[in-house]
Amino acid sequence: MTTAEQSPDIGSEVDSNGNGHPLVVDGLEKHFGGITAVDGATFHVERGSLTGLIGPNGAGKSTTFNLITGFHEPDAGSVTFNGQDVTGWTPFEIANQGMVRTFQIARELGEMTVLENLMLAPQNQRGEELWRSVTPGERGQVKKQEEALLERSWEMLDFFEIDHLWDEYAKNLSGGQRKLLEMARVLMTDPEMVLLDEPLAGVNPTLEKKLMKHVHQLREEGYTFLLVEHDMDIIMENCGHVIVMHQGSVLAEGEPADIKANDQVIDAYLGEDI
Ligand code: ADP
Ligand code: MG
Repeated sequence: MTTAEQSPDIGSEVDSNGNGHPLVVDGLEKHFGGITAVDGATFHVERGSLTGLIGPNGAGKSTTFNLITGFHEPDAGSVTFNGQDVTGWTPFEIANQGMVRTFQIARELGEMTVLENLMLAPQNQRGEELWRSVTPGERGQVKKQEEALLERSWEMLDFFEIDHLWDEYAKNLSGGQRKLLEMARVLMTDPEMVLLDEPLAGVNPTLEKKLMKHVHQLREEGYTFLLVEHDMDIIMENCGHVIVMHQGSVLAEGEPADIKANDQVIDAYLGEDI
């Protein structure tokens, strides 16, 4: 998929927010002691887009992701998802609205099989939501939900082409396979929007292509992606729109080619390979 194929007016469809943007971030701020990690970050993401979020190390990208998905509470500013102010909501509540971020597979999940990781994912992301309605007497209901969960898990395994690994412990997967599992885990929650923080770190070029192919397939199905990625070539090849962060706020945004040629962006990256 090239930039040109990604229609610029893909987000013009009006949603409940009245402006077609599933995610609107306005004036976000986060301080850690004396450090200002995010300093007035303001941007939006268009529906159905694959938007890149880039910037030098320490620019505040990961903190911004954590603010958006509820893992940190902002000191100022707001996060609006599908027209709803979700600022200060918990990650579970935000995931329930349909916005999730990937996480590296934690050590304890490494001790579980790939299939178990998927079966547990909705519970981990959404708290007790799936099971809340089930009373002890409703065994049939539980069974149905488990069957649905199992079916969805196999769909994910199949889609990401890791079905042959279903019984493997997550800790035994290669770096790339683990990234596929991380993606599959967040999709188990049936989100609308997925935030990917360096999903290609430690992934070999073959799996890298595969992973991006899946992202594009999902985007065409209607998912919206915000992608943090260090490799400028990946951003250039895959993203329709790029937002550049520097020192906690947005320095520039636009089409990848323009961003790559932007003097301010080049200055911000001084000393780093892009
Ligand atoms: P990026 O992901 O763009 O590399 P981060 O959001 O991780 O940047 O970090 C932005 C700044 O905030 C850095 O200076 C980093 O050291 C600092 N920072 C991030 N998280 C914390 C934290 N939990 N406690 C203290 N400082 C933090
Ligand atoms: Mg980071």
